[in-house]
Amino acid sequence: MIPYGKHFVDQDDIDAVVDVLKNHNLTQGNKVPEFEAALCAYTGAKYCTTVNSATSGLHVACLALGIGRGDIVWTVPNSFAASANCALYCGASVDFVDICLTSFNICLEALEAKLKLASSQNKLPHTLIVVHFAGATCDMQSIQRLCKQHGVNIIEDAAHSIGASYNEKKVGCCEFSDMAVLSFHPVKSMTTAEGGAVLTNSDTLNQKLSLFSKHGITRDEAIMPLPKDGPWHYQQVVLGYNYRLNDMQAALGISQLKKLDDFMFKRRQIASRYFDTLSALPLDLPSPKDLENHAWHLFMVLLKKHQRTEVYKQLHQNGIGVNVHYIPIHTHPYYQDLGFKKGDFPNAEYFYDNALTLPIFPTMTEEEHSQVIAVLSDVLN
Ligand SMILES: *Cc1c(COP(=O)(O)O)cnc(C)c1O
Repeated sequence: MIPYGKHFVDQDDIDAVVDVLKNHNLTQGNKVPEFEAALCAYTGAKYCTTVNSATSGLHVACLALGIGRGDIVWTVPNSFAASANCALYCGASVDFVDICLTSFNICLEALEAKLKLASSQNKLPHTLIVVHFAGATCDMQSIQRLCKQHGVNIIEDAAHSIGASYNEKKVGCCEFSDMAVLSFHPVKSMTTAEGGAVLTNSDTLNQKLSLFSKHGITRDEAIMPLPKDGPWHYQQVVLGYNYRLNDMQAALGISQLKKLDDFMFKRRQIASRYFDTLSALPLDLPSPKDLENHAWHLFMVLLKKHQRTEVYKQLHQNGIGVNVHYIPIHTHPYYQDLGFKKGDFPNAEYFYDNALTLPIFPTMTEEEHSQVIAVLSDVLN
């Protein structure tokens, strides 16, 4: 089976992990700070806190911004559920802004109109979580301009987009946001098995990210409310969690990060080949205008709705592991119980009804590519 996505781990990666097992602390050693520094250097962000998943990262990002009961958080419906769940973890409520059917990212007109309405009703969101869908960056400059007018904070869910660029800078630099959250799950662009990171340029947010992901405990006398009992003393100052990444994962991350630009090069090559070979088929392609700045975490095409299930089945029968992204968050039973219903966000639903995710991963061969094209042409013609 040719999978829709696959991690790449080589001997250097394995050696890096074994080295930690043999010679270093397994957790709370020096590999985690080294990985955090490497992520700052790569993205251009000032601070980085690694965590055990992007889901944990989104949670602590919300906590660092002070999101809680009574607050509203907006995100997009065509994402993984974690993009919205993080707000619910904090006791806030969630609402969605529909996507645009050319970029598959948040629709700026819908955002502007919804902000205007919310402002007039005194129901502005505390924070907007944007998703750089499939690795295509959102128009962050415009999003920031709109959010600033209304005092809305911005978190980038950058789980798909480490390695992508916007405005000649790497995603994660946080030039137009408060924080950016990365994922290192094996289907994403680079991996630590499970893992994630939160990037920011704010000293205050960084301190809080660190606190919330490490039990809310500090050894820093400067932020201790009470006098220190002695050199051993630490104090818990907020209710935090154990969301730490361990040193084996960090060592894998350091080694993977060195290969990220090569992964990006290969993903762009495969995407480019898809544009060349798919243009003759009866389907809609994503917009290729940003081929070079895109991370190509996923490569999706839009089919006719009535064909999609059949095409999916036949490709699977022929050893092509295509997938469907994403079941719109507001259509999950849990979210329907919160009051959302089908029809609320028609563009995200249209996308879900028609989309098919084709295989793309750094080690995908030309042979595998030809196989995908051959079966797909066969099924569609
Ligand atoms: C994968 C993903 C997440 C969650 O990442 P984990 O590291 O698995 O917790 C969050 N948001 C988006 C958009 C994702 O694709």
